[in-house]
Amino acid sequence: MIILAIDALDLKQVERFNCHHLMQHEYGVTDLTGFKQERTVVLWAAFLTGNNLEAEIPVETQWTYRVHPEQTFLPCFPTYKTIDVPALSYNQEAHAEERRLLKGVFDGTATIKAYDAVVWRNHEENKEAFFKAVGRFDLVMGYFNLADAIGHLSFGINDKLAAVYADLDCVAEAVKDFDDALLIISDHGMRAIGRYGDHSRNGFYSFNRDVGLRRPKITSFNAFLRRLAEDEYAAN
Ligand SMILES: [Zn+2]
Repeated sequence: MIILAIDALDLKQVERFNCHHLMQHEYGVTDLTGFKQERTVVLWAAFLTGNNLEAEIPVETQWTYRVHPEQTFLPCFPTYKTIDVPALSYNQEAHAEERRLLKGVFDGTATIKAYDAVVWRNHEENKEAFFKAVGRFDLVMGYFNLADAIGHLSFGINDKLAAVYADLDCVAEAVKDFDDALLIISDHGMRAIGRYGDHSRNGFYSFNRDVGLRRPKITSFNAFLRRLAEDEYAAN
């Protein structure tokens, strides 16, 4: 099982940029009903645990919030590896640098170019770790914040967004030939505010086989993945 977790991957943009590999056999929008805001950590925690933990994840300290693996579907797989997943194995140091530069763009101490460079560098490092892990564990979950991080400052700049979506489509292409179930999932979508981007409800999921999910709730994947793992490993 491979889970490609892509922050802010937006259904409309996937279709607009014609990302063939992200649009798998079954794909569509997810349902975020019940959440007051589209907060990244809250939504990944919901995906992982099957529960809406919005009320207990403080905004101020959300990036250091952790769920326990036992609360998630991960232990249902004999072996698993996660890369940079918010609320679980998030690379605090790498993303702290991004946030420092993001703040710097607004107070005039950093440029968007410098910010983008760090975001892309972190993205390349995650890709390397992800490709190295795929095929070596029963479940590999790789997280990529590229569309969210670039999108916040440049969602309205078409060439930059096109490069982001083209790269993410290549990540999906690179793992699609593993004889494995492939779930591509985002926490929320994104909408334009001038050149900037803000979170929207337009989240995305995609599966490389017919699973009949139809507008699945973000909290429904926990049970779905537990069932998949049971079907695959219960007999062994
Ligand atoms: Zn997000």
